[in-house]
Amino acid sequence: MLITILHGPPGSGKGTQAQYLTKRYGLQHVSTGEMLRDEAAKGTPLGNEVAPIMAEGNLVPDDLIVRVIESRLRDADTQRGVLLDGFPRTVPQARALDEMLRRSGRHVDLVLCLDVPEDKLIQRLLIRAKAEGREDDNLETIENRLEVYHRDTEPVLDYYRAKPGTAVECVDGDAPIEEVAMRVRDAVDRHYRDAA
Ligand code: AMP
Repeated sequence: MLITILHGPPGSGKGTQAQYLTKRYGLQHVSTGEMLRDEAAKGTPLGNEVAPIMAEGNLVPDDLIVRVIESRLRDADTQRGVLLDGFPRTVPQARALDEMLRRSGRHVDLVLCLDVPEDKLIQRLLIRAKAEGREDDNLETIENRLEVYHRDTEPVLDYYRAKPGTAVECVDGDAPIEEVAMRVRDAVDRHYRDAA
């Protein structure tokens, strides 16, 4: 059972790389952003609560997203291994995740981070805005999301770097998709080898 976190700023290619990784390693892709967008599209009470927060590029409250993940990690399809994409996004979320995993005798094995320079992120997000029409992919919201990332999410890396039993592997994500996929694959394989 491998619990891996895909970490990186918005636009770093987490969703794209998740597709490759889940196939290769048989992991269940758990994207909190996708789950919340689904809820918002369905107009559930949770969806209606989070939609305005997401539209501005802010983070939804920690206790809310922790409840969502806690329930998802009880589902049968997540028992063989998961790839968490977009969670944890704050240090309190990381602490809550570790605590819930500890209760079931599990832990985060690997944090994979994608490094992409800021100007490339903005370019990519603006292209995605045109292609997918995501409401939070406009310049003002993008700038806010990057600020939120640096302030709240980047510290999650140092949290895991300081944690015994969890490896942190950073990969240069400023390259064509296939090339990044190879680098990510090498990083995961290296982790498996070192852990063996
Ligand atoms: P993403 O698709 O991962 O970029 O997430 C889209 C939006 O969903 C974010 O900008 C947040 O508003 C919200 N969101 C997703 N995951 C989290 C999380 N772990 N904590 C707080 N908000 C989140």
